[in-house]
Amino acid sequence: MAVAVAARGNGVPPVPFEHEELAVADGERSGAHLAVAIHSTVLGPALGGVRMWSYGCAADAERDALRLAKGMTLKAAAAGLDLGGGKGVICAPPAGFADEADREAALLDFGDLVESLGGRYVTAEDVGISPRDIEVIARRTAHLTGLPPERGGSGDPSPFTAIGVEAAMRACLRERFGTADLRGRTAVIVGLGHVGTHLAERLRADGCEVVASDVVPAKRSVAAQLGAGWVAPAEALGVECDLLAPCALGGAIDTDTVDELRCAVVCGSANNQLADDDMAEELALREILYAPDFIANAGGLINVYREIRGYGPERALELVHGIEPTMQRILEAASERDVTPLGAARELAAERLGAKHAAPA
Ligand code: NAD
Repeated sequence: MAVAVAARGNGVPPVPFEHEELAVADGERSGAHLAVAIHSTVLGPALGGVRMWSYGCAADAERDALRLAKGMTLKAAAAGLDLGGGKGVICAPPAGFADEADREAALLDFGDLVESLGGRYVTAEDVGISPRDIEVIARRTAHLTGLPPERGGSGDPSPFTAIGVEAAMRACLRERFGTADLRGRTAVIVGLGHVGTHLAERLRADGCEVVASDVVPAKRSVAAQLGAGWVAPAEALGVECDLLAPCALGGAIDTDTVDELRCAVVCGSANNQLADDDMAEELALREILYAPDFIANAGGLINVYREIRGYGPERALELVHGIEPTMQRILEAASERDVTPLGAARELAAERLGAKHAAPA
């Protein structure tokens, strides 16, 4: 299989190329376009999921991998993990793979690409990839996480992600109201999927009033079973509440929606909740506390990290609960230095990366 390693300015605009490596290939078996972006291995192997998606063109897929890989570096560094940031993509045909054999061929090809990187990149589950797909990739490489528990893996990360979001919420409540107690607070959860459902369960158990929303109307009965209220997606962001938890797709908060918000805190699991970085300033202007997504949603990554180190749920849980003091430290630094929490979170990640760079070999 031909593996191209891109250098700075290799013609994949417009993401500034500040990554260590972009490995691309056209799968030998499947012909599918594949890419792995390694943003940084300063702190350890670049870990990040592989996404199977139908992109408009190969450059779109590579841009997505580059953008997401950088986010993984920040997430791992800020969470104190000895991991770098990377991301993989498998381009699916517009109508999806014709059959299981074609899909499997693309997964095996991706496994070969991962293997060719010699452990600098470690793959995991992401959008469009199931635990079964990870088992297929495992036939070609051992540089992966997310195998089922019976094969020594850590299984579904979403309960750990929800625990981390709740920990981040507590730090935000303490900062905003002087107490981390969730009892009597109100939370709106937008996206009642894997993470959102676990989060709703936890918040209800803590005595928090929960209102849920999802584009899938059938989720209304899930909300009812959890003792949560329901609001249509179009109205969810405008509900008056203490905590707004975006747990669906990215980009929920943009120049249009920011004026709808009636919450004290935004803290959820979705990646890239802000359409752009300026939104962090806009939220601060409206006195809405924003919990940077890559801090709040690090629970799943922490859990798979423990898989590399020898998995044990107790240690993983202990580290996930560490999101609360990390978030608290970020919020304190933000108010001391008069920067947004997003700025303070980036500084924390940069400090760790910089310290490692500066340390003698
Ligand atoms: P999921 O696909 O299980 O759930 C997402 C839910 O959001 C679905 O029920 C979907 O119908 C709903 N949804 C989509 N668009 C919506 C909209 N506009 N309004 C309301 N609901 C909408 O995904 P998940 O695993 O629960 O992850 C949720 C988010 O958290 C994603 O952005 C994911 O990238 C991020 N995340 C997840 C994990 C994890 O451990 N699963 C870890 C880190 C980050």
